[in-house]
Amino acid sequence: MERLEQAQAVLKKYFGYHEFRPGQEDIITSLLQGRDTLALMPTGAGKSICFQVPALLLPGVTLVVSPLISLMKDQVDGLNNQGIPATYINSALSAAEVRHRLYEISAGKHKLVYIAPERLETDSFQSVLRRLDIGLIAIDEAHCVSQWGHDFRPSFRNIKPFIDQLPVRPVIGAFTATATAEVKSDIMTLLSLRHPDVYVTGFDRPNLSFAVLRGENKQKFILNYLQTHSRQAGIIYASTRKEVDSLYELLHKRGIAVGRYHAGLSDEERAVQQERFLYDDIRVMVATNAFGMGIDKSNVRYVLHYNMPKNMEAYYQEAGRSGRDGEPGECILLFGAQDVLLQKFLIDKSVENPERKLHELRKLQQMVDYCHTPECLRQYILRYFSEETAGGECGNCGNCDHDGEMIDMTVDAQKIFSCIYRMRERFGVAVIADVLKGSKNKKVQQLRLDELPTYGLFSQYTVQDIKTMIQRLVATQYLTLTEGEYPVVKLTPLAYAVLKSEAAVWQKQSRQKQVEVADDLFEVLRQLRKRIADREKVPPYVVFADSTLRELSQQKPQDRDGLRQIKGIGELKLQRYGTEFLEAIRSHLNQSELAEQAASEPAGQKTKGKKPAKKNAETASHLLTLALYQQGLELEQVAAERGLTVATVQNHLTRCSSEGHAVDWDRLIPPLYENLIVAVIQKIGCQALRPIKDALPEEVGYEVIKAVIGKHFSQPQSAG
Ligand code: ADP
Ligand code: ZN
Repeated sequence: MERLEQAQAVLKKYFGYHEFRPGQEDIITSLLQGRDTLALMPTGAGKSICFQVPALLLPGVTLVVSPLISLMKDQVDGLNNQGIPATYINSALSAAEVRHRLYEISAGKHKLVYIAPERLETDSFQSVLRRLDIGLIAIDEAHCVSQWGHDFRPSFRNIKPFIDQLPVRPVIGAFTATATAEVKSDIMTLLSLRHPDVYVTGFDRPNLSFAVLRGENKQKFILNYLQTHSRQAGIIYASTRKEVDSLYELLHKRGIAVGRYHAGLSDEERAVQQERFLYDDIRVMVATNAFGMGIDKSNVRYVLHYNMPKNMEAYYQEAGRSGRDGEPGECILLFGAQDVLLQKFLIDKSVENPERKLHELRKLQQMVDYCHTPECLRQYILRYFSEETAGGECGNCGNCDHDGEMIDMTVDAQKIFSCIYRMRERFGVAVIADVLKGSKNKKVQQLRLDELPTYGLFSQYTVQDIKTMIQRLVATQYLTLTEGEYPVVKLTPLAYAVLKSEAAVWQKQSRQKQVEVADDLFEVLRQLRKRIADREKVPPYVVFADSTLRELSQQKPQDRDGLRQIKGIGELKLQRYGTEFLEAIRSHLNQSELAEQAASEPAGQKTKGKKPAKKNAETASHLLTLALYQQGLELEQVAAERGLTVATVQNHLTRCSSEGHAVDWDRLIPPLYENLIVAVIQKIGCQALRPIKDALPEEVGYEVIKAVIGKHFSQPQSAG
């Protein structure tokens, strides 16, 4: 297939990618063969390439109709930065600038032109476009044409009449991440696609992990999470402006580089916040769902949902904003029973048509089910988007993750249920928690709830912890909440079974995984990227994606050919940034070599008195090494994971041990030799390693000797 080969060459040259992702190839081939095409791809699957590559191969210009005005500049900057002639026209430009660009376009200067659909109404604009040789019209976010979608935009209804009046009909490609049947058929008819090829690329995003946490103390969880993910960018979605504001305040007070985004802020403020996030000036964005469509930032590493969204489409789209670069992304939904009530309330308030209301409520229920299903979350998602699945477990979601420890909560649950029972199922979570805690507040005393035998049963817990326990039992359907402004807690038949000791309550302890692994070179490259981005006034990911930096820091290429092998480095970027990145890698390698030489010098020869200057920077590093080692990784594996040599890894462990951290040295010491080595060291001391090694059988390596010293001869120093 000649066409396909050309497409692959373009992919390599301009985008620096070596192969198409699943689906991209078919869509591109279809467009190149002149067939209208509808592509349904989840966020992050790589839609843009599907029209950008054909744009470079087809004659004439490609019009990209996009509702995302705020993004056009970044997208076009990104393309220009890859050596692709592109421009955009939207309401943000002055009339003079628009004229200038139209002139450039008619002169054939651009291969891609991004336009807002509103433009298609203006006659003057239409007359210019009619004279152009348009090879392809790509309609991004095509679901905006449908009232059934979640972002109906009336201006999308201009597209069809516009196409109909063109002298020559170009190929039409429509792209969306929303795949419901209603939306699909609307797109086909309302955008006048002609017998389109329809491609649904896998909705699976294998690099994303999914988890639902129920009954968690949300604020505590988030603070903790941000602490363990301090170098990564992420989004936290909350349902209401109020919640966004208060969470924002909380994080801001803790000194976290956080921004916020919701419809209550001025346009200007929102633009500033969004830009700071895109440019990596802030690393966490707390936002309502107003923040979203078209956040083109590819290095979002996690999306946390502080509240449950209204349906699975919304959830998957929002969560899908993580890991667009194909690197791991973590999607955690913090479920609280109140979220359901809030969403019901919102539907009730905002949807009038009874049929529509029912439709929305059904979707909400499916969202709630997602939060409670014990099966693989990925399977659930894929089935929801009516995708055939192989079944089984993905191994990368909260429900497939069997590491979380199950604990028996039966006794505590019985205490809670019996308290609720004795309170005649007439109170809300707060009062029940007060009674269990043994609170002396007025309400409890007035109602003489302090005379109940369950009063004060949980005096050892905090009120918040007790509330959390109750909410967890609601989420797992032992308890239910009544609807209304003041929800009352009721026992379900399940709870009665537990009270009668006919059933037990087991709950999985949530745990936090994915500890951030410090990678010094990655950090160096990230800072270089930020400097370049600031210099060129583009967002950092326009320079290089995270995945590209990650590959650079792992492969450590030393010349241009090495750089060419890295995903995301096309010819133009190689020319532009190659030298700087090569230099950064080289100087990092030199430095770490020096550091390692110093570290692996036998102890006795170390310069006395002088402390190594790098000490502070290394503090976290040696503890990270220990953490990996304690997870059961071999020394070599830890070294590979951390990009260090085995010798450095072992020096880290020695240091941990001398600082009083427990290190399991036995894993490194063959029992057969242990006593012998101890005896040798007792005789000749451990000032220098070489004499010890010489006094031992040849097969005893330095690692073993160092381990024995760590185990038997290192004195924990008092912390200082
Ligand atoms: P979306 O489908 O959400 O519009 P994008 O087009 O923004 O997704 O692509 C998401 C990310 O995946 C971008 O960083 C893009 O450069 C990258 N990408 C797309 N196609 C490929 C490919 N064939 N190989 C590697 N990365 C790719
Ligand atoms: Zn799973």
